[in-house]
Formats: sequence, structure tokens, C-alpha cells
Amino acid sequence: MRRFVFTLALAGSFIATATPAPRPQTPTAVIPENSQPSTVVVIDAGHGGFDRGGIPGQRVPEKKMTLDVAQRLKAVLTAYGYRVVMTRDSDVFVPLGTRVAIANSYRDAIFVCIHFNAARRGSANGIETYFYSSQSLPLASAIHYYVAGGAPTPNRGVRRRGFYVLRKTTIPAVLVECGFLTNATEANYAQSSAYQQKLAEEIGRGIRERSLVASTSDLARSKRGKRSSKSSSKSTSSKRKHSSDSDSEKRSSTKKKKSAPAQTEN
Ligand SMILES: [Zn+2]
Repeated sequence: MRRFVFTLALAGSFIATATPAPRPQTPTAVIPENSQPSTVVVIDAGHGGFDRGGIPGQRVPEKKMTLDVAQRLKAVLTAYGYRVVMTRDSDVFVPLGTRVAIANSYRDAIFVCIHFNAARRGSANGIETYFYSSQSLPLASAIHYYVAGGAPTPNRGVRRRGFYVLRKTTIPAVLVECGFLTNATEANYAQSSAYQQKLAEEIGRGIRERSLVASTSDLARSKRGKRSSKSSSKSTSSKRKHSSDSDSEKRSSTKKKKSAPAQTEN
């Protein structure tokens, strides 16, 4: 329960525009998995085919890592009872427009894009999660909470960014950057099947429990949700990391990252 307070605290800090009056908190309970509002999950393994992902000269191909995690996530979600649709299930190139069209062809679905990060500065590391529409924030917060919490790497925060696949999708859509393949440590993690499985399981947990976050989204929008219990210190520290470390990295690597997440803009 406490972890959701943290998730909501995190979520609340990203909703700058919504300022409805605080309402009484709805009691929350564990929601049986078969009552999840979204039973279709569209999994999007980034890149593929001639599009390796990452930056030029990158040793570990992003397209392979994203597919590995996506396929493991498919197994995790299927076991949870979700219906899973893959935008690609092999090493093929799928245009971004096609990926979005697949996602948008399912009503009441959610869209989860799996990516890995890249930067010319080898020390850049950590997990970050992107969303665009406000309806995607609970999903982004839930997934990020579990992935960043389960990974032995820095938390770079949840960020709003207008990537094509996030902007053009009409369903809740999230893009997870599961670490930097240009960082030696994270590249080693990414290539281990145990870590790929861990990532898949944490993303799956976020998806599974995101409706619990959504059901209390009123709290996230209230000021009270921002500061609560002992989790606030963790939230603050992650935000601090987000604003200092990551933004400068982002700026410095905007150009070279064209083929990484920025490439989803094409
Ligand atoms: Zn990518």
C-alpha cells in the first residue's frame, strides 16, 4: 500500500496543469487481475530489421534487447491473463505509423514501448519512462515505479515527451527506456537473460497494478498526494536526480540520440 502512495506522490509531481479540489480518498483494495479495465496490451519492441537502434558504432544492438524483453513481457502478461498483441515478434522493421495503427485498432487497450537508451558519454546510466497524454500518466508512473525500483541502476524519472508513438496513440501509451546500452555495466545487465526477465516482470507488475493507481488518481491530483508518509523523501531524491543529472545529459546528447528514443519522432 505504501508503495502506491509513493507512486501517487511521484505521479502528482508531474501533473502541473490539473488542479481540481482535493476529494476524499477512495479506499483502495487489491483488484483481481481478471477485472483489469484493459485486457489487451500492445507491446512494442523498439526498432528492428535494418534499424538497429542506439547510436552509430554502438556495440550492443538495441533492436535485439528490446525484442528479448518484449517477448518475455508477453509471457508474463499472458500468464496474468492479458491478451497480448506484439507490433513485432521477430527481427523485422515496422514503421512507426504501423505501430501506432496497430495500437489504435484496439479499444480499451494499453500500449507499452520497450527501448534501451544510448549516449556518447559512457557514464550515462539509469532508467527513464516517458508518457505524453495525461491518461498515460498512471501507467507510466506504475511501470516506472517497478522497473526503476527493481533495477540496480539510477532512477532518471518519469518524463513527458512528444515521441511520435506516444503522441499519435489514442490509448494510454508509455515508452520505457530500460537502461543505457552504451554504459558498460548496464549493457552487461541487458544482455543477461536473468536481467531481461527481471525487466519484463517489473514492467508486467506495473501494468497489472496500474489500475490501482488509476483508481486513486484523484489523490495524485491533489496537493495532499504530493507529500505523504516516509516515501516522500525517496520521491524528492529521485526528482532531484531527474532535474540535475538527467536533463543535462539529455541536452548534451540530443543530437547523437537521434537514432535512440528521439528516433521515434520520425
Ligand atoms: Zn530506442
